[in-house]
Amino acid sequence: MEESTNFIHAFIEEDIAPGGRFAGQQVHTRFPPEPNGYLHIGHCKALCIDFGTAEKFGGLCNLRMDDTNPAKEDTEYVEAIQEDIHWLGFDWGDRFFYGSDYFEQDYAYAVELIEKGLAYVCELTAEEFVRCRGDLTHPAVSPYRDRPIAESLDLFARMRAGEFPDGKYTLRAKIDLASGNFNLRDPVIYRIRHVEHHRQGTAWCIYPMYDFAHPIQDALEGITHSLCTLEFEEHRPLYDWVVNNVSVPCKPRQIEFARLGINYTVMSKRKLRELVNRGLVSGWDDPRMPTLCGLRRRGYTPASIRNFCERIGVAKVNSTIEFGFLEHCLREDLNRHANRAMAVLHPIRLTMTNYPEGKSEEFDVENNPEDPAAGTRKVRFSRTVYIEADDFLETPVPKFKRLYPDGPECRLKGAYLIRCTGCVRDADGNVTEVLATYDPESAGGNPADGRKVKGATIHWVDVETAVDAEIRLYDNLFADEAPDAADKNYMDCLNPNSLTVCTGCKLERALAGAAAPDTFQFLRLGYFCVDNRDSTPDHLVFNRSVALKDSFVKK
Ligand code: ATP
Ligand code: MG
Repeated sequence: MEESTNFIHAFIEEDIAPGGRFAGQQVHTRFPPEPNGYLHIGHCKALCIDFGTAEKFGGLCNLRMDDTNPAKEDTEYVEAIQEDIHWLGFDWGDRFFYGSDYFEQDYAYAVELIEKGLAYVCELTAEEFVRCRGDLTHPAVSPYRDRPIAESLDLFARMRAGEFPDGKYTLRAKIDLASGNFNLRDPVIYRIRHVEHHRQGTAWCIYPMYDFAHPIQDALEGITHSLCTLEFEEHRPLYDWVVNNVSVPCKPRQIEFARLGINYTVMSKRKLRELVNRGLVSGWDDPRMPTLCGLRRRGYTPASIRNFCERIGVAKVNSTIEFGFLEHCLREDLNRHANRAMAVLHPIRLTMTNYPEGKSEEFDVENNPEDPAAGTRKVRFSRTVYIEADDFLETPVPKFKRLYPDGPECRLKGAYLIRCTGCVRDADGNVTEVLATYDPESAGGNPADGRKVKGATIHWVDVETAVDAEIRLYDNLFADEAPDAADKNYMDCLNPNSLTVCTGCKLERALAGAAAPDTFQFLRLGYFCVDNRDSTPDHLVFNRSVALKDSFVKK
């Protein structure tokens, strides 16, 4: 995939060139999350664009909590957002802000607008306001538009002082009642809400609207480029109107880009929160969640996520990216960096009947064939090992190239060539042990005479030194490809088989001390990481980050 042309970079280059709107200025962006949930992969795209653009131009990027709305915001979210951004490898230095810290300035700029005859106090109720909005052929009606400036100033001050109940008055910008853009039809810029703010307490009972507060916040922080998602395109004329009509120190430029959507998942904090609150997932960091903490727990690396964001590029049209592409980016990274190891998910014993009892030996095995610097480790072998139960069939199905009585010679990875001779059953007829003979002349898994091995290569774990583990396998959280679609209820789209817990799994001895964030490629099974929440030295828990098979490459 080639790097897509980045229209944001092109605009900025124009702006900072001689004669441009920001000629000679340092590029300054910001990331403004609302602290009402954890960051998700969609936010990563915005982060990569905001911080990445600043990085590219040697500029700065602020982190600003958008807490203009006195909603349920939580320091838990604020801290998690900071942790996630640092984990991705971005840093805001000492430029960490809260939108609510500008309430006093917001108020002063609102007063300035009233004094200039550009804002007025309105008494329409919410329903009347909607009824008076007009339509494409009729302008809006606003009966309080010509209220004298002095009267608006007085009422606005009394709104602040708490003299009126919620909804009694609003402050509206005086722009254009006939505009084809309804955002300009004298939008409300302040409303009364007797609600405590999580940082300001009861200092305020009037709150600025986002469309008024956001451009002011940007301007006060000296932001040159305010990068945001497409749904704000229609709001850009209002953004520009605000920075052009109040005496802010600079006039940032808003540029919009397409939101990221991914199939088989939902990308709205509200919906993700609902999944958490209803206990449908184990928390915001459930490994099936598209949140950053969920992806981290699943085993995603910062490099894989940043690479993903870079390769999907920036566009002006919303689109849905395949989840398989995110997995592809992870596989690429882990293939290079994850050590290999052997683990058996569904163990059954395999005994080499001609291997001396009590004997054992160790084979030197490369940790990562892609990376010689990763070194080697010793893998212990003895008479009985665990293999996957489904690597044996008493009666083979067509094309089955693994173990069955008198079947093909198979390779125990890195150890010996073996031939299956039969099995042992318990009183109920269940197979409890597979039997085989090994070729003593094939140490390391290679035949002395160079003959071709017709059967499969099989992974295994030495019984005497095996370490127990719980291994969790994941599938998409939603069975429907587009659970976020407007005509669907995402709650009805959940995949009942999104989590499979395997207990009594067997790992090779080298993994005994594994701890998060250790990640391995388990031979034939995929990439796995130690669970960063539930794993303990006495009870190891691994998550499958991604299977080996890459459906994306085939396409
Ligand atoms: P949500 O619907 O998930 O709550 P939001 O836009 O309300 O999303 P914010 O916390 O306000 O969430 O978002 C912070 C920044 O991240 C904004 O600039 C927003 O445009 C951007 N952003 C949010 N979701 C996506 C997405 N899916 N793709 C790209 N950028 C996104
Ligand atoms: Mg938002």
